[in-house]
Amino acid sequence: MDNKKKILIVEDEKTIAEILTYNVKTAGYETETKYDGKSGLEEALTGKYDLILLDLMLPLMDGFEVCAKVRERLDTPIIILTARDTEPDKIRGLDTGADDYMTKPFSINELLSRVRANIRRYSNETVTHKIADTTIELGDIVIDCENYLVKKGGKVLELSKKEYDLLAYFAKNAGKIYTREELMSAVWGYENFYGDLRTIDVTIARLRQKIDDPGTEESLIQTKRGMGYFIAQNN
Ligand code: CA
Repeated sequence: MDNKKKILIVEDEKTIAEILTYNVKTAGYETETKYDGKSGLEEALTGKYDLILLDLMLPLMDGFEVCAKVRERLDTPIIILTARDTEPDKIRGLDTGADDYMTKPFSINELLSRVRANIRRYSNETVTHKIADTTIELGDIVIDCENYLVKKGGKVLELSKKEYDLLAYFAKNAGKIYTREELMSAVWGYENFYGDLRTIDVTIARLRQKIDDPGTEESLIQTKRGMGYFIAQNN
């Protein structure tokens, strides 16, 4: 029996692909590498991977498209690796359903820590799913924890996985203020996070756009300056 977790690397730069392969194998994973978006997508859709490391700038099909197409069919965790460190790219990446985002050059230790965190989360989800209870109501927002659905005024909202996870986490712990580090640990699953905490701010900003009434002064997810974020009790 082979219990090794499998990681798909989609990266067209041979040197980077080799460094990734070497380190990921050394850390105990099995790997397969594809050097363009199209064959990367085909390989990803076989469904045999526990995680995908995905470059953005790829021949034949870019990483955004690969990510979106994988998400139509599979929940496999996807970490985007990119040389582009711009906020719109980051938002687009998270919007197409990527779980995480790393800007090159990155530290291998940090990458491996995120790989572990994302795989652990993914394999825990079946368990979480079973214990998830019923629904939570926050004004006109209804969170259906059993089916991972959020409705506003009866209409289903299109939330990314992380947006859903964040909202559900706040809702289940209404009244409690969370720092960005705590959210990274609780929702992204990082034990020792030393990367970019703006991922939290970006995800919360996207979430607010989707759940709040247009032009509203106070968001459902409130900011406690200098401390963190929270949802008020008894909404
Ligand atoms: Ca590339």
